[in-house]
Amino acid sequence: MNFSPPPFVTGLKCLICGATYPHSNILTCPSCGIEGILDVLYDYSSIDNSQFTIRNSQFSHWRYKALLPISPDLHPPFLTVGWTPVYDAKRLAKHLGIRKLFLKDDGRNPSNSFKDRASSVGVLKAIEFGFKTIACASTGNAASSLACMSAAVGLQSFIFVPSRAPEPKVTQLLIFGATVIKVQGTYEQAFDLCREACEKFGWYNRNSGTNPYLVEGKKTAGLEIAEQMKDEMPDWVVVSVGDGCTIGGIGKGLQEMKQLGFIERVPKLLGVQAEGAKPMLEAFQSGKDLVPSETNTIADSIAVGTPRNWRRAIHQIKQSNGEMIAVSDEEILEAMRVTARLGGVFGEPAGIAGVAGVKKAIQQNIIKSHESVLAVITGNGLKDVQSAKQAAGEALSIKPNIDALANALSAHLKIN
Ligand SMILES: *Cc1c(COP(=O)(O)O)cnc(C)c1O
Ligand SMILES: [Zn+2]
Repeated sequence: MNFSPPPFVTGLKCLICGATYPHSNILTCPSCGIEGILDVLYDYSSIDNSQFTIRNSQFSHWRYKALLPISPDLHPPFLTVGWTPVYDAKRLAKHLGIRKLFLKDDGRNPSNSFKDRASSVGVLKAIEFGFKTIACASTGNAASSLACMSAAVGLQSFIFVPSRAPEPKVTQLLIFGATVIKVQGTYEQAFDLCREACEKFGWYNRNSGTNPYLVEGKKTAGLEIAEQMKDEMPDWVVVSVGDGCTIGGIGKGLQEMKQLGFIERVPKLLGVQAEGAKPMLEAFQSGKDLVPSETNTIADSIAVGTPRNWRRAIHQIKQSNGEMIAVSDEEILEAMRVTARLGGVFGEPAGIAGVAGVKKAIQQNIIKSHESVLAVITGNGLKDVQSAKQAAGEALSIKPNIDALANALSAHLKIN
């Protein structure tokens, strides 16, 4: 079956050499190879921005279909992706010593992470290009999200996970019916094996580091921030960074809304990496090409030693006059606690790293106390119960009588 092409997409442009190609199923630039990430181009002058208003009754990221590389003949997955809530977290803002802190809770997507934005676009591209099977390598969330969206549209999915992937995420894959291949090695090894398998077996490759269409799905968070925060645009948008597609996508979405005349100013982007996996921060500071690093952090979703989309991420951060910063695992665990206790939002370590970054950026005078910040919470805390338990502490265990309760409470309240 032939589907008509996405109406406003004009082609693909290599982020290294600048060559352009027509809309098609190529993943990276033929002359630059695997490093040549492609960016999707649109004819913005033909897009009517009046549809991006609160009057649009589609409360999911499909309200931005005009800005997505999607054939008008295809039905999006019926699950609700995107249009996640933004909370004004007053007590958390006060605790951090900042005027305003907004939390955008992307843990509320169908598979409980930001990745659903990308996967929901990825499964449609697979169908459009005639594939029956889709595959990806992931530290967890891209995979559980792909398994979920594949289940919604009826594609078969094959998932390559590194041995370190948290059990709840792997369980999510299995319940959605994916074939799960645990690769005894790192994420990088799982990634390379997946790419080889897609070529050999004719599967569609959802790897967001390289697939140009997936970043377009991630961009919808930037489009939403522009629309949801139109009257109170924050000075900073804070995002945790692994491969760099999330922050690169959000930056692109915000730039597009400026280009379409919907907002006047793009907030500064703060990219937050883990101390134990910060090759992007090093490239950002040195201005040189990225040098892959080892990874050692509890924030598994951003434990990426060889980020694929670093050029896009760094370009977007610089274009916004933004900054990058790294946080330790202890700082992430502390941020998990305070975000839950003062903000009411429970995020996984990588999901919360942004909040830890806000605290550190205030200490380093990168973010000023009179400024306002929106932190994107990229994944739900139940995705990684092991880390959550480290942050949360223990329950009181007592005999079933009131004296035991009174004793336990007084001991507990003394300590806390
Ligand atoms: C994937 C992911 C990120 C980082 O996104 P990149 O595109 O790899 O930079 C952050 N947080 C969570 C929860 C994720 O799953
Ligand atoms: Zn190129």
